[in-house]
Amino acid sequence: MISKRVLIVNAYCDELRLPVARPNKIPQAMAPAFLGGTFNRTACEVRLYDELHSGPLNDPALLGWPDLLVLTGLNTAFDRMKQLAAYARTLNPRVLTVAGGSAIRALPRLASHYFDYACTGDTEELKDVIRDAWGHGFTAEEPTPRFDLLPPSRIGYVETSRNCQFRCSFCTLSVHRRRYTSYAHAEIRRQIEAQSAKDIFVLLDNNFYGPDRNDVLARMDVLAALCHEGRMKGWAALVSGDFFTPENLRAARNAGCLALFSGVESFDTAWLRSRSKFQNTRLPQEEMITRCHEAGIVFLYGMMLDLTTRRIADIRAEMDFVFSNPRLPLPSYLALPIPLLGTPFFHDCVRQGRMLPNVRLRDMDATTLALRPLDPLPEAVAFVRSLQQIRGYRLRALLHTARFTRRNFGRFNTLQRLIALGNAAALCAPTITSGAWSRRTTRTFVATTEPLDNSYRSALPVASRFQDHFRPTMVTDAQGRLTDEMAEDLGSSEGIRQGRSANRSPMETSVQNLLPARTA
Ligand code: SF4
Repeated sequence: MISKRVLIVNAYCDELRLPVARPNKIPQAMAPAFLGGTFNRTACEVRLYDELHSGPLNDPALLGWPDLLVLTGLNTAFDRMKQLAAYARTLNPRVLTVAGGSAIRALPRLASHYFDYACTGDTEELKDVIRDAWGHGFTAEEPTPRFDLLPPSRIGYVETSRNCQFRCSFCTLSVHRRRYTSYAHAEIRRQIEAQSAKDIFVLLDNNFYGPDRNDVLARMDVLAALCHEGRMKGWAALVSGDFFTPENLRAARNAGCLALFSGVESFDTAWLRSRSKFQNTRLPQEEMITRCHEAGIVFLYGMMLDLTTRRIADIRAEMDFVFSNPRLPLPSYLALPIPLLGTPFFHDCVRQGRMLPNVRLRDMDATTLALRPLDPLPEAVAFVRSLQQIRGYRLRALLHTARFTRRNFGRFNTLQRLIALGNAAALCAPTITSGAWSRRTTRTFVATTEPLDNSYRSALPVASRFQDHFRPTMVTDAQGRLTDEMAEDLGSSEGIRQGRSANRSPMETSVQNLLPARTA
């Protein structure tokens, strides 16, 4: 008999700083479905809400409904999780709040001020929280992700492995250095069969191409069989730059691979080395991409525009190289590097005094300057502003897309052509996925002056003791030094270790739940 109510929310703050929903963005959050599978279905009623898909959650009926509120999200959603906890606790003083995700993992001590359980372990360890809160009988014997609670879609998501064998300095996976593990084949099959037949399954692994090639090939065999059985038309995966050998590409295409995403970040080898992304320097990246297309697989990637170590002129030259080269696809996104909390890159930036003053955690997204640029700040701002709509490059992007499509038309099937064209469209008109066509923002693109989202003003009445949940979490002070609340968790690697062991219960959303801009 149902006796407990559970609401699982993927908290989300949009880069437009507007209350938008992005139901068409790929990928969508999967962590809520995996977390939902932890609960015993006969004892708990579980509801999922994804703010990425459906926009900000401000419904008092839903926020006041659960006995247990589980929150997950990326770094920039830390404050949003605080806000949601404040609403739920005001509406139902008996609700228990649980938070997980990369920011909670980095800031366990700070998080414990706002949530009953601030968790840093794996998704499965939500079981420990449930048992601690309610005792036995409320966890699933055999956790199965609650794909049945997700909105219908022609795209499915699945996880076949966790972690990564590489240590790129900007990646959160370099903080915890967990061992690469892959799922049992039966479990991969179970995840896919639990979802209705899809056009394409996206593998949300941190890096599908783990250190054991035979294991990767065996997982491809499972996917090939599922394609053959008609469960999907094909699949897409995130892989590291060492994947792109002719043998691997042939095996992937034969197994139904339609597209591969790999974090190119830059075509500048010296910069890649400076970020410990050595696996991307084994082969000229242009050759890696061309090989992928010749094998009949769409190549997707993102670029990181590091204004702190490179001149704008240098970055423009790199963009010119991409936009004039039909051998390369357009990138899926152009992002500023983010000093994600606790990463080696973050500590370097703090040590070298590269953080701007008064940076808020909310500001640490890929479109806001949080680090001192090499060029004068007004020039850097103008450049970042123009990037949002790729101003100055739109006509070239159109011409490039035409030339790229002509060059690769015969190599791709219809679904792949749609993927390639959709990728170019998303870069040229990023508001396509947000529906925010006509809404103007007053963004400054600098962490010190960027206006906060409306969500920082409470949309519902909130008890006075939770008012501080609406205060933005500050990363640096007026001098650009780490604030005390950050230093407590992140001031040293020792601090991180102490914070993790002092935590009440472990949980981590290792499932990649948003744009995988920092993986593979
Ligand atoms: S960025 Fe990609 S390759 Fe580098 S550590 Fe992260 S997951 Fe691995």
